[in-house]
Amino acid sequence: MEELLNNNQYCADCDSEKIEGVNMQFGVLVCKACAKTHSQFNMPIRRLHEPFLGEEITFLLSRGNKKVNDSLLINLDPWIATPKIFKFESVRYWYIESKYIQMIFARERREKKRPTYDLNKYWFYIDEVSKRFPITRGPVTRWEIRKMVNDAEVLFLESYIWHPILGHKWCHVEKTLDAINPSSEQDDIVTQEKYQKMLILLDKRYPHLKGTVEVVVGKSKPQKKWLVLYMKKLLIFPSSNSSHFDLELHLDSTSLDLVDSGNSVMISVISEGIKLLISANIWEVMEWYHSLSLAVYLIRNLEDDLVIKEPDLSEMHVCNVTTSRDYMGDKVMEGQLKKEGAIFKSLNPKWFILRTQGLYWYASKNDKALREKDAIRLFYDSSVEEESDAKNGFGFILISRVTKITLWAENEEQRSKWVYYLKETIEHLKTLHEGVCLLSMT
Ligand SMILES: [Zn+2]
Repeated sequence: MEELLNNNQYCADCDSEKIEGVNMQFGVLVCKACAKTHSQFNMPIRRLHEPFLGEEITFLLSRGNKKVNDSLLINLDPWIATPKIFKFESVRYWYIESKYIQMIFARERREKKRPTYDLNKYWFYIDEVSKRFPITRGPVTRWEIRKMVNDAEVLFLESYIWHPILGHKWCHVEKTLDAINPSSEQDDIVTQEKYQKMLILLDKRYPHLKGTVEVVVGKSKPQKKWLVLYMKKLLIFPSSNSSHFDLELHLDSTSLDLVDSGNSVMISVISEGIKLLISANIWEVMEWYHSLSLAVYLIRNLEDDLVIKEPDLSEMHVCNVTTSRDYMGDKVMEGQLKKEGAIFKSLNPKWFILRTQGLYWYASKNDKALREKDAIRLFYDSSVEEESDAKNGFGFILISRVTKITLWAENEEQRSKWVYYLKETIEHLKTLHEGVCLLSMT
C-alpha cells in the first residue's frame, strides 16, 4: 500500500496532491472531485482508506497513474483543455468522459508514421541569388552544407536548402541553421525530434468550423450568431444565410481562455481590444475551444510555414460542428435530380447535395435556402437501391428510417455515381457506429 501511494502521489486527472479515491476498473488513483466524476460514469470507485485485498493491491501496482496515462493519453495534444489547467466541473466532466469512456486520446493517430530522418544524408542546396551555383547541388552531407554556409561562399540568407526533415518544401537557410549547425548542447536526436514535431503540425488539418452559438460582444446582450472559423480569422455573421459579417477577429493576435459560468463554461476570445464570450452546450463549447486553440497553436508554432487549404466557399452556410444538432457534414457530391412533388405527383428538378450526414435538396444550384423538410438524414442502417422501373428515366430508391424517396437521374452514369457515393457515405456511418459499439463494450 505504501509503495502504491509513493508511486501515485498526484491525481491521475487533475494533478491534485490529495488522493482520495481508487478507480478499480482502470487502476488509477484520483482526488475526491475526480473520483465523484468517475462514479457518475459508473466506474467502480473505492475510498483510499478502505481495506484492500492483497490481489487488489497487486492489480493496482501493476497499473498505476503513470502507466495508465501513458496509454490513455498517448494522443493528448497540447491544445486540449484538461482539468490540470481548467479547474471547472464541466471541463472535468468532459475530460473524464473523453479519456475513460470514449477514449479519444488513446486512439491511434491517423497520420502515417514518418521515418526517422538521417541528418547526415539527403541535403540539397539551391542558390537563386548568387550566380556561382545556379543549379541544384546534392545530395550532399550536412558537413558540406555547413562548410558552404561558413565559408560564406553563398549569400546564405537568400539561399534555399532541402532535407526531408524540413517539411515538404525548400527552406530558407537562415530558418534552419539550428539543424545545419546545432549548438553543442543540442544533439541530433533533439534536432530530429524538434523537426519531427513540426512535420506532424504541417500535416494537421486546419480546423475550419461553422455553426450557431450564443455570443456576447463586449457588454452587449447574448445573441445567437453564425460563427465561422475561416483561415486565420473568426467571423461573426447575424445568421447562416447572411452574406456580410458583423465582426472579424484576427487569430494571430488573439488570446483564448475558458471561463466558468456556473453550470457550464464559456470561451473567452480577446483580440485587438474586443472581447467575445461564446456559449453553447458543453460538447459544442469544447469543440469550438479545441478548434480555436488548435488554430492559434498552428499559427503561432508554424508562422509562415503554415499553409491553409481554403475551404469550400459554397458551403459556408453549412454547420460542421460535429456535436451540434444542426451538423450537416462535409459535401460529398452534388448535382441535379428529379423528385416527385409531395402533392402533385409530377417530377420536379431540384439541386441535390450529398453530405456526410444526409441528402439535402434546394430549389436550384444558386438558391441554397434550406427548408427543414428538404433533407433526409442518413444513418448506419440506411439503404439505397436502383429502381428497376424505367418509366421516368434512371431511378434509385433511398430508404432511411421512416423515410423513403425515389429520385431520378438524367442517365445511367449519373445514377451509378449517386448510388455509389450514397453507399460509400452509409458505409462510413456504419464504420463510425461500429467503432462506438466497440468502445462501449470495453
Ligand atoms: Zn483530480
